[in-house]
Amino acid sequence: MKDTFDIIVIGGGHAGVEAAAAASRIGADVALVTHKIETIGEMSCNPAIGGLGKGHLVREIDALDGLMGRAADASGIQFRILNRRKGPAVRGPRAQADRALYKAAIQELVFNTPNLKVIAGAVEDLIIAGKEGVTGIILADGSEIAAKKVILTTGTFLRGLIHIGETKIPAGRVGDKPALGLSKTLERAGFTLGRMKTGTPPRLSAKTIDFSSLAEQPGDKPPVPFSFMTEKITVPQVSCFITGTTKATHAVIKANLARSPMYSGQITGRGPRYCPSIEDKVVRFAEKESHQIFLEPEGLDDDTIYPNGISTSLPEEIQALMVHSIPGLEKAEILRPGYAIEYDHVDARELLNTLETRRIPGLFLAGQINGTTGYEEAAAQGLWAGANAALSLKGDGKAQFHLDRADAYLGVMVDDLVTHGVTEPYRMFTSRAEYRLHLRADNADRRLTEKGRALGLVGTKRWEHFISYREELDAAQEKLAKLTVTPNAAGDHGLKITRDGVRRSALDLLAYNSITFEDLKRLWGEELTGISPKVQEQLEIDAHYSAYMERQRADIEAFRKDESLIVPQNLDFSGIPGLSTEQVERFERARPETLGAAARIAGTTPAALTALLGYVKKTDLRKTA
Ligand code: FAD
Repeated sequence: MKDTFDIIVIGGGHAGVEAAAAASRIGADVALVTHKIETIGEMSCNPAIGGLGKGHLVREIDALDGLMGRAADASGIQFRILNRRKGPAVRGPRAQADRALYKAAIQELVFNTPNLKVIAGAVEDLIIAGKEGVTGIILADGSEIAAKKVILTTGTFLRGLIHIGETKIPAGRVGDKPALGLSKTLERAGFTLGRMKTGTPPRLSAKTIDFSSLAEQPGDKPPVPFSFMTEKITVPQVSCFITGTTKATHAVIKANLARSPMYSGQITGRGPRYCPSIEDKVVRFAEKESHQIFLEPEGLDDDTIYPNGISTSLPEEIQALMVHSIPGLEKAEILRPGYAIEYDHVDARELLNTLETRRIPGLFLAGQINGTTGYEEAAAQGLWAGANAALSLKGDGKAQFHLDRADAYLGVMVDDLVTHGVTEPYRMFTSRAEYRLHLRADNADRRLTEKGRALGLVGTKRWEHFISYREELDAAQEKLAKLTVTPNAAGDHGLKITRDGVRRSALDLLAYNSITFEDLKRLWGEELTGISPKVQEQLEIDAHYSAYMERQRADIEAFRKDESLIVPQNLDFSGIPGLSTEQVERFERARPETLGAAARIAGTTPAALTALLGYVKKTDLRKTA
């Protein structure tokens, strides 16, 4: 076996595959080392991709030629745009995936990536050569593989411990051994490790569920793909069903809380606030008589149902009592019990914006190891770390893959992580983004594909597809800008606008919330033929947002001014006159890379920022002199 690579990625989960593929696209010679080849792309919890905020991440990953969107399109069995009634900026594409098809799609993409070798093995240790940083890895059998950069994406595996009632099983997830050696390696290197937890519900046999009395939830017709490259979803589509907990369910849970590791004190790690266990929900929202449960099929040829909403760590026999107290599930057979898992994570403030660690040069961390939760958050970080590791090996090594908070949700997440670290599992929401009117799922390609192409991250096929789409869109936009009409003529065709005598273009009309592209066809039926439905929808969205975008542009400019003021990485904050000890500690822990990032650190006062700015400017002037 070849024993030296440009980059080694440890872990074949959602972060690992994107990291390996991104680095390969940029031209690095990559090895993906993971426990089992057959679990590459495994969905540890529910088989669904996207959702609010998360769907934006998937579109952004896709715009940068990542894998997740294409795999979701090849495996999605129910697509829904969440928040459809709200504005396009906060709509979230989501797909229920066939677990086996998703994994197969990811594996096909990985195995067909040039310069990417997949190796099965458990990594026990890193080889670290003093200031040179990481130079390779050591596998459980003692063999060594050398690399210039290493990306660690071990998910929930670091000292993973499963809890089912009083039973504890060391594991990375059910059926997989934990990673123990790497936790020790990180501790030895001085990283502060935190403990977090997450959970999963019992899986049920569809054959034993009575769906007849339950509300059916079909998907969207037609299903809207994730990937900008997918024309049409061809996988058969299925429905989900909705049920809910009852008073009897709550009574069972309350009577057995002491046997839930979450409450007995057996689990100390923090859990995801927005994806709580059913025990958590019953206690925290005691006034609620029922909690909704979505019964989601795990696949087309799979009898397994994922009951979304009842993640639990109660003992198996109590899980059975709980399940059987739920309408439709009275006779449901439990195929696998639910469980909670505790694992180690690293304080993301230990990382540079590139996701390289400050402590060990050449070592990058991505995914759940950085305190996030969710496949999409992991995949996005994987792409980011993979791109940066590969770019650091090109030319003078100074090129970086960087997106700021006004570029992408990816930028928002990485900035949040490295600036604030996490106190609970971090998941993406649209509310985390300041510029969400701009950061829409529909325009991710126009925001990012060109940037990705410039760095070698976007392949020729996607680039050509993007260019041809953009030309079509630009041409249509130009056409609409040239078609004009008087308010009276528009009114005669049923369009409601003020009869003020001002001629308006078709684009101006489209900016009205009440006017759609279909309405324009009443005025310019012939001129508007040949514009594809996708472009029509895009023109509508762009026009609706155009006025807001103008206003947001000024905010973005002001934000970028602060972002352009670089804080040197070796700055001794304690040498800045006027900073309190607490403020020095805050700055030292987060080591902000820009003045903007410094301002976002909780507790930072305007006076502290002024002192920092003054000091950095003075030092710069001295250097110039
Ligand atoms: P993972 O997908 O965990 O992949 C890690 C990979 O690293 C695996 O392939 C593993 O084999 C490999 N690996 C680890 N250590 C080594 C080693 N030493 N040597 C070689 N290979 C190694 N997310 C949510 O958003 N909502 C939820 O409700 C939710 N519930 C969850 C419940 C459970 C029980 C679990 C386990 C996870 C849950 N998640 C949930 C989290 C979700 O699964 C993760 O966020 C996501 O999978 C993280 O991706 P990742 O790439 O960081 O790690």
